Amino acid sequence: MTAHKTLHARAAEIEQRLAEIERESKKATSGIGFGKRIGEGTNIAVERLKDVSMHQGLQTELANIKRALEKLNEGGPMRCDGCSGPIPAARLDALPWAVRCVACAV
Ligand SMILES: [Zn+2]
Repeated sequence: MTAHKTLHARAAEIEQRLAEIERESKKATSGIGFGKRIGEGTNIAVERLKDVSMHQGLQTELANIKRALEKLNEGGPMRCDGCSGPIPAARLDALPWAVRCVACAV
């Protein structure tokens, strides 16, 4: 698979998961306060928090993928957003949506 296809496939997967999380969180929110005991409400709140952090993580990843696709469309070697140095092919093989080199990613 080319890097392009990998990135598009990953972006589609993330968009789908984001949509699922949004759907689930709407359901959970509308369920709170309707005949639930306090314990159940707390569980939902904890689940919501997990969803929110996962949602944020996915959104960050999606933004990285879109940035990586832009770079691919520009042509030329993939360059690091941090130091403008080339991103090694080995890193892109492991992480096709890497927009920073290993040194800048830390
Ligand atoms: Zn760098």
